[in-house]
Amino acid sequence: MVRKVSHFSLTDDKDKKIRELEEALWLAHYRMINLMAYEKERILSGYHHVEDLSSAYRWLGEAANALIKIADAKPGFEMGDPGTRLRAVCPLCGDGAQTPYVEGFAVPIGLRRHLMGEYNSQQCTVMAAALWLARDSARRASDPKAPQAR
Ligand SMILES: [Zn+2]
Repeated sequence: MVRKVSHFSLTDDKDKKIRELEEALWLAHYRMINLMAYEKERILSGYHHVEDLSSAYRWLGEAANALIKIADAKPGFEMGDPGTRLRAVCPLCGDGAQTPYVEGFAVPIGLRRHLMGEYNSQQCTVMAAALWLARDSARRASDPKAPQAR
């Protein structure tokens, strides 16, 4: 089959394809958040109110604090840590520190680092999806030509 491509239609196709891919990416992140149980989904859905990048990171920190409060923190000795610290697996993804024989993250600092992706920590996949949505919301709020909130 011969495909007739003019310069004009090629540009239209690219723009259309980019919009379709942006929509698909947004939907994938949105669905990841919606897979969470009600309370966690409620905390993460606050990305809707983010209007600029600085407030995106401020919101992420507030969400991390709320998630740390609902984490199932247990005494370290129950999680293989001989120290006196509390530990908890991530309430979103179930991950823990990459330390043999020890479960979860130290609470609150290790869990916060995981949720925020701080100090070279591998950021929580679910939290990264929420940050993506927050940054997208900020971009839409600051760009009058961007498609508005869904
Ligand atoms: Zn996680």
